Amino acid sequence: MMNRGLGIVLTVAVAGLVPSMALAHGDEHLHVLPERNDDAATRAVSWQDVDGWRISPPEQPLHGGTRVSAIFSVGDSRAVTLETRGLLADGSGSCIEDTAGPWMPMEETFARGEVRIAVLDLGDRFACAQIRLRGSDDAIVEELQWELLVPRYPDAGTRSREMAAVGQPSLTSIGPELVRIGVKTRDDWGARPTQCTAVEDNWYRMAIHHTAGPTTAGGTVAGRIASTQAYAMDSGGWCDIPYQMMVGYDGSLWEGRGLILRSGATGGGNNDGNLAVSFVGCFHSPDSACVGGQGHPVGDAMMFHAQLMIQTLVRLYDIPSNSESIRGHQDWPGNSTACPGSLLHPRLGELRADLAWFSGEETARSWGDDPIDVPVGGAHELWIELENTGGLTWEPGATFLAPTNPRDVDSPLHNASWHSPIRAATVQSAVGPGEVGRFVFDVSPSTNEQIVQAFGLVDEGVTWFADAPWGGGPSDDVAVVSVVGSGESPGSGDDGGGGEDPVDPDAPVDPNDPNDPSGSGGDSGGAPVEGGLPPGYGEEDLGGCSCSMPASPLSFGAGWLLLLLTRRRARPRCSRVRG
Ligand SMILES: [Zn+2]
Repeated sequence: MMNRGLGIVLTVAVAGLVPSMALAHGDEHLHVLPERNDDAATRAVSWQDVDGWRISPPEQPLHGGTRVSAIFSVGDSRAVTLETRGLLADGSGSCIEDTAGPWMPMEETFARGEVRIAVLDLGDRFACAQIRLRGSDDAIVEELQWELLVPRYPDAGTRSREMAAVGQPSLTSIGPELVRIGVKTRDDWGARPTQCTAVEDNWYRMAIHHTAGPTTAGGTVAGRIASTQAYAMDSGGWCDIPYQMMVGYDGSLWEGRGLILRSGATGGGNNDGNLAVSFVGCFHSPDSACVGGQGHPVGDAMMFHAQLMIQTLVRLYDIPSNSESIRGHQDWPGNSTACPGSLLHPRLGELRADLAWFSGEETARSWGDDPIDVPVGGAHELWIELENTGGLTWEPGATFLAPTNPRDVDSPLHNASWHSPIRAATVQSAVGPGEVGRFVFDVSPSTNEQIVQAFGLVDEGVTWFADAPWGGGPSDDVAVVSVVGSGESPGSGDDGGGGEDPVDPDAPVDPNDPNDPSGSGGDSGGAPVEGGLPPGYGEEDLGGCSCSMPASPLSFGAGWLLLLLTRRRARPRCSRVRG
């Protein structure tokens, strides 16, 4: 009986009604998950009751198959018995009930959360297959997708499970740039070791997909990615999850197959150099069938992080970010698919829009264009606010406003309030994308000369905001301050004078006081200094100023007033604000 049936299948194939198996799968196989979905509602209508079992109608793929694979969700932790059998077809292509082989239990190969995968090799090639559930299990099985297929990678599932069982790691291809933007590696979702061998070393285009299924398994995106990989390999259709990178519905970013192995995601002969990014979920419009119900709305967090990852990949591989090079799956020639769904497809332009890691736009500042008079050795507080228009968060102690003419050289305007002589200020707290951060800093001239200081932004150890590819502006002169030091140097308020203070060569010197060669030592106790007050001192206008005190144990409250009264060198960092 079995042999006669097989003969029928082969006759059909020879007659040219069935294309060759070689074309049936592999690169041209577009969907990881089976398109057939016998969910609970479908089963209630179309499945039969026979002797305590619920039996499906036959599945009859164009090319027949040797393996039955199913992915299904179960409402509780009970074991579910799923069985299958092959059927043959007659010359007209109809499945013949009385050619069915025996029912055989399918082997469960994966379980995570509510998701189970079960597989069985039928031992021969059949034109059709059926599956059945025990009647008592039917009530707890919700989604049930299954298919009869010819596995292109028949051993991928078995081998990957064996390798995972002995603790063989799943190697990551994710470099520091992708780690920096939060991409989680294969280990983070519990990937099995790959069974792919074809490598890719020239990504020059990109294809956007969706998984056309639920967003999570066991409540996590990681679980859903793991179940997608498990189905791809256990069905034998793929050597690994076909997509290079994945985007979670919550905006989480994940390594899929990775960036070393050739893509297996896009049909029409379009896998060469075509980096596949897949959104985990189903983004068909609500009136289209989606596994697990209606399509998922496209969320802002998902889109923003996807754009950040895509724009990072664009920079890493020099992929043009335009509609020629970055397309939806359906836009690549030779692909008859609605992927990535009618909700996501119209928004691909947002993913192509440029997004640097670090960029900002000024929103406000405390000073104008005119030079600012600041007493030599004194200080004047300024601030500037910028909106974070980049993809990454500005962090205190990492993101700085810094002097830039030149970069990384001590500014003549720095004082002890700066993070360092080359870093003026950082943000007070984390500033996420779209938020506004304020940088507050002193300018403190040490000479009478006019000093024009430009400032830009830098994320320490990563990039200057002005520098491509990771910076997106502003330029190194987003903030320019012109400061005129007024008066003679009164010495630093921090240390009561010292070697940095200019010495007036005409000032009388007390040869008996080695600590005070200029006769203007710091501990003057309020006594008038010979030669009178420094020029400009009496002109100070404490009203209407933005004032702060030099670093001092008494820098708060009445302490600074005491200092002002008793130590002329410890003047408040204050001057008229002009302009
Ligand atoms: Zn696709």
